[in-house]
Amino acid sequence: MSTQKNIALVAHDHMKPALLNWAEKHKQELAQHKLVGTGTTGGLVAEKLNLPVTRFKSGPLGGDQQIGALIAEQKLDLLVFFWDPLNPAPHDPDVKALLRLCSVWNVPVACSEATADLIITSTLFNDPDYQRFIPSY
Ligand code: PGA
Repeated sequence: MSTQKNIALVAHDHMKPALLNWAEKHKQELAQHKLVGTGTTGGLVAEKLNLPVTRFKSGPLGGDQQIGALIAEQKLDLLVFFWDPLNPAPHDPDVKALLRLCSVWNVPVACSEATADLIITSTLFNDPDYQRFIPSY
């Protein structure tokens, strides 16, 4: 993995405060990478951190699928996806598809603050010698 990575940030509405707090906590690290996000999440992160974030469509309008396309094209290194475990989403099939693609392509995905903390502070995260295994189908 190259040192500068492509990181996608997505949070469902009730989870946005948690993602913003997490992003603020790790701003210094996140500033070293290329950030993308679904429309609303990306806009909130850009505003709060004052960092550039490439914004896709809002999740329910196809943003999750746009991030899924990045995964399929090997253009994403980490997905931080705080999906809401307590409320149904109209785009639940897209959520499932996005998580599925992370497993298909062995892309690290953090669905909780603790997991996201552990991934982004891992020594492997910034180890230029670490090669994520990419399955050959
Ligand atoms: P949003 O989309 O960032 O535009 O709110 C997130 C989602 O619901 O998947």
